[in-house]
Amino acid sequence: MGLVTYVNGAFVPKDGASISVYDHGLLYGDGIFEGIRAYNGRAFRLEEHLDRLFDSAKTIMLQMPLSREQMRDAILETLRRNDLRDAYIRPLVTRGVGDLGLDPRRSKGATVIIIADTIQLYPKEAYVNGLRTVTATTRKPRPDALNPRVKSLNYLNSIMARIEANQAGVDEAIMLTADGYVCECSADNIFVIHDGQIWTPPPFLGILAGITRGAVLDLARDLEIPAVERVFTLHDVYSADECFLTGTGAEIGPVVEVDGRAIADGRPGALTGRLIEAFHALVRRTGTPIFPTEARVGGA
Ligand code: PMP
Repeated sequence: MGLVTYVNGAFVPKDGASISVYDHGLLYGDGIFEGIRAYNGRAFRLEEHLDRLFDSAKTIMLQMPLSREQMRDAILETLRRNDLRDAYIRPLVTRGVGDLGLDPRRSKGATVIIIADTIQLYPKEAYVNGLRTVTATTRKPRPDALNPRVKSLNYLNSIMARIEANQAGVDEAIMLTADGYVCECSADNIFVIHDGQIWTPPPFLGILAGITRGAVLDLARDLEIPAVERVFTLHDVYSADECFLTGTGAEIGPVVEVDGRAIADGRPGALTGRLIEAFHALVRRTGTPIFPTEARVGGA
């Protein structure tokens, strides 16, 4: 059976799923989205993704056509219709169909799309041997230009960084703030470890407040590994004992090279390995059940 996609309340075959060329999501990147994963029949941290989606909608003054409950149901129903227990789910809400001017008041109502599929962000070997990265010359926008905390359909800034990684022949690009502090990657948050302490940039710096990032901070607390949110520079990355990236698509990816410098001995670090193991256990045992039978087996 081919995959089906939710488009404004209807389930349509993946290849036939389409929206208007006058949709402002296409014309202006005017919209928001989420990237969610399901593992073992459960949608991981679904409520946090719904929080972020509705917070993003509020900031861009997008009138959500579905309530939070309806959106949750639509996401779970999309997984059920595709009979997926392990999946990547991409809900999108655009400003909807308007005219060729950018004024959002011309919109006739938001468009809702929910795609359920699979994703493989980096090659499998990169999780074993580690990721190679460069620092992008493209800076993250300042929070008062386009706040990176809004998960908007404007991803060209990240795509520019991704192109730099491609041109350099590496797996990912690290992005700095306008002031030159380490911010995040094209689609992941960044962590370094110094003397057994985990560091990650704070949300106010202009990062996307990643849900995987939050899970890693929770796991660090459970494992009694000290973790702090702090501002740091590339020097702190080059001299780190370990470095890793987190994201829903990426999960936890060890970084072994940054701008031609090996991180420590150039192999994935031991604490990173412990976090990866704990993360895999966490995603399998927690999350919102997709199928009713799952709900009877255990809680969320
Ligand atoms: N930063 C950016 C720019 C992203 O696109 C993503 C992926 N959504 C992340 C960080 C990681 O966030 P999350 O763990 O919620 O997927």
